[in-house]
Amino acid sequence: LRDYVVSGSPKESDMVVTSTTTKLKLPEGSKGVLVKNLYLSCDPYMRGRMSKSHDISYVEPLKPDSPIAGYGVARVLESGDPNFKEGDLIWGITGWEEYSIINEIHTLFKIHDTDVPLSYYTGILDFIPPFLPSLQPNKGLNLSLYLFTLTPLPSLQPNKFVGMPGITAYVGFYEICSPKKGEYVFISAALGAVGQLVGQFAKLSGCYVVGSAGSSEKVDLLKNKFGFDDAFNYKEEPDLDAALKRYFPEGIDIYFENVGGKMLDAVLQNVREHARISVCGMISQYNLEQPEGVQNLMNLVWKRVRMEGFLVFEHYPLYPKFLEFVLPHIKEGKIVYAEDVVEGLESAPAALIGIFSGRNIGKQVVVVSHE
Ligand code: NDP
Repeated sequence: LRDYVVSGSPKESDMVVTSTTTKLKLPEGSKGVLVKNLYLSCDPYMRGRMSKSHDISYVEPLKPDSPIAGYGVARVLESGDPNFKEGDLIWGITGWEEYSIINEIHTLFKIHDTDVPLSYYTGILDFIPPFLPSLQPNKGLNLSLYLFTLTPLPSLQPNKFVGMPGITAYVGFYEICSPKKGEYVFISAALGAVGQLVGQFAKLSGCYVVGSAGSSEKVDLLKNKFGFDDAFNYKEEPDLDAALKRYFPEGIDIYFENVGGKMLDAVLQNVREHARISVCGMISQYNLEQPEGVQNLMNLVWKRVRMEGFLVFEHYPLYPKFLEFVLPHIKEGKIVYAEDVVEGLESAPAALIGIFSGRNIGKQVVVVSHE
């Protein structure tokens, strides 16, 4: 990154790709691992880290001139730690570069289950406990993508790290909403990494499910591939309140909130008594200098609605339960997962900013290398 992004959407020109040459070797006596990065994850929370202020993100800002850090899948090339050996596949926090030296190896997890696509570990399956990850900047490794310029990547604070889409959907839906068979469920950003799973979980729970998304292609997929009962393109609805009244003539029991702003206001006009709103994120607000006001909050009182925000990292003890639930469903094809995969580190800046305009269809993944 040339500098912090103060306001507005990040642009490709805010970032720079650099390459350099060095020997691929761990420093003498290193207890870390040298990895070849395979898949990287693009996520909305990364926007907050591009701003200098810690106030607008639950994760601390990135510093210029370091490789961006994020969830990824990698292969171990050399290890100074007895728990990892050459050839191991791992997932965890890595750098946006072809090769990384990772010293905080306790942030890494061996991949044992390879019956599912490896890229799923950037999205549906990954979740990192709130340990203290930090990476050594790999000055000198071949073709590094420096999205953030300068000195060592900041150590992430314990309890300041965010988990990822699979368990986010699981916690936000099951733990926060306590769904019951037959309830009316609405999901915004429904074909994002999180939303697509919430919809499928809701169908497995016997709910009636409608999603909103920003293109007719996404609407078709929600209805025909992901089993939503209905879906609509919010960009083509001049009156969101009227749209929701059309799709939920009896009102909404559960709203899974991913976008905020006008959509939240419209939902508040259509909630049923004792509705639950799981506030996962508000992506429509992340690039605004002034967040939009919401007018209809009094409906929380009239309708005795419970609206609850959550950060998934607090729920990491549920990860084994989540895996036990989700892995058989994936293997049996009862849960499908859409990924939007782009090739090469050079494509990463466009992929990252694309999630703020809805360019991604499903979980946004960058392939650095296939093997
Ligand atoms: P994705 O990156 O998969 O997709 C984001 C989608 O949001 C886009 O594809 C786009 O789809 C939609 N979008 C982007 N900008 C706007 C806008 N201005 N108005 C309306 N829609 C917009 O997102 P995830 O599924 O990974 O994340 C979904 C939400 O969950 C985010 O708010 C994220 O911050 C939050 N989150 C929260 C966590 C927590 O612990 N609470 C953990 C992980 C994620 P389209 O416009 O086509 O519908």
